[in-house]
Amino acid sequence: MKKTPITVAYGDGIGPEIMSATLNILDAAGAQLDIETVEIGEKVYLRGGMSGIEPSAWESLRRTKVFLKAPITTPQGGGYKSLNVTTRKALGLYANVRPAVSYYPFVQTKHPEMNVVIIRENEEDLYAGIEHRQTNDVYQCLKLITRPGTEKIVRYAFEYARSNKRKKVTCFVKDNIMKLTDGLFNKVFETIGQEYPDIEKEMWIVDIGAAKLAASPENFDVVVMPNLYGDIISDIAAQISGSVGLAGSANIGNHCAMFEAIHGSAPRRAGQNIANPSGLLLGSVMMLQHIGQVEVAERVHNGWLRTIEEGIHTYDIYNEGVSKSKVGTKEFANAVISNLGKIPETLPSVSYKKTDAFKSISSTKVKADKKLVGVDIFLDWDNGSPEQLGRQLELISLGKLALQVITNRGVKVYPDGFPETFCTDHWRCRFLRDDGQPILESDIVSLYQKIIETDFQIIKTENLYTFDGEPGYSAVHG
Ligand code: NAD
Repeated sequence: MKKTPITVAYGDGIGPEIMSATLNILDAAGAQLDIETVEIGEKVYLRGGMSGIEPSAWESLRRTKVFLKAPITTPQGGGYKSLNVTTRKALGLYANVRPAVSYYPFVQTKHPEMNVVIIRENEEDLYAGIEHRQTNDVYQCLKLITRPGTEKIVRYAFEYARSNKRKKVTCFVKDNIMKLTDGLFNKVFETIGQEYPDIEKEMWIVDIGAAKLAASPENFDVVVMPNLYGDIISDIAAQISGSVGLAGSANIGNHCAMFEAIHGSAPRRAGQNIANPSGLLLGSVMMLQHIGQVEVAERVHNGWLRTIEEGIHTYDIYNEGVSKSKVGTKEFANAVISNLGKIPETLPSVSYKKTDAFKSISSTKVKADKKLVGVDIFLDWDNGSPEQLGRQLELISLGKLALQVITNRGVKVYPDGFPETFCTDHWRCRFLRDDGQPILESDIVSLYQKIIETDFQIIKTENLYTFDGEPGYSAVHG
């Protein structure tokens, strides 16, 4: 079999030990890998590379397109960029796939039947990293949800479910509050879901959905969600399945993919041959599936399950009465190697097919008819009541662009606000054309000019558009 080139980083802390253990197992199982090793993490950060990765490593990654990565240590102190966030975004790794599986009764958990895969969108949402301080009191972080990004992650979730013989895909959103952003995610889920009649579909508002997942994870199968919810919920899912030390993760893009353990570099456990290599090993099983070496993936996974079942456990999952022997990293790897070719006797065995190898996923192009109909002007103002502000702005309104409403932290305060509403120094003033007809950008510029001439401080503007006649902005209620 032809060898597949991959890039490997041994990382920091327990990273080198768990990576050696993992690669020894893959080698013994017959994985055909042509390994390029790169240095990332603490040493690179401390040499002054603020993102923890150097050009030569990027070059290797972009050539092999497959990255098996041990955890790294991000040095304390400001200015260092998260290597994971940088890698995901730079290589377009839009899907984070995190299985959370119970190995009861061999690993303790309250949820013996749990077998969930969280599919987290990896590039968008509040992780765009666009934040601003706008006034003395107010800071903002932009939540960006895009249609192509959502289409890719939702389709990936359904394709994953189909090729892994999963029965149901659940979507978690908060579209009762974020009607446009999370609303888009849910709409795309409904539309794309129709192309998968063989798979059951379900939607939960993320708060109650997360609570149900924590209480009865056996009722969930594949769960797809935007970035921030996925970040939080996938850690909870891994923890309640037994241990974060057992969970692997895949970051998938159309060009490249990265595989890792979900835990960090556990520096206090480093160099003692005690760390559990299972998270990285299960990450590497996903890598073998991805590159089409499915027989090897199956052999490694089944040998590992058999080892867990035999009670050969590292300290983190060792449990008196259930475990048989407490072993170190190397000894655990040797036990898995001696179990290669065997299948588990109690836990379900795995079987992988050639079709599990990755298919690239694309999004559609849609062009709506976009019309400019108004503007939200945000002011930094601390000189009085909403009524006073409203009356001053009414005087400024242009013929075409009339003040419609003022909100503070999204709550309507003018006209007819409540005196009880707490107001900060951050005001959104909405100007719309009464008859809904389009306006010109120059109308907004004239309004802007008049407002600053009246000594108001504008901190930003947000143009209001309709798309095919539908407002592309949230309505103000109250
Ligand atoms: P951590 O996951 O490294 O460790 C938390 C605790 O979990 C450890 O003290 C240890 O008791 C246990 N643990 C974790 N992995 C284990 C394993 N394989 N075997 C046995 N026990 C294990 O989290 P942390 O202490 O918050 O972070 C340490 C460093 O790791 C930080 O610098 C952080 O930035 C980094 N980190 C890196 C990644 C990554 O590279 N993907 C992810 C998370 C954290």
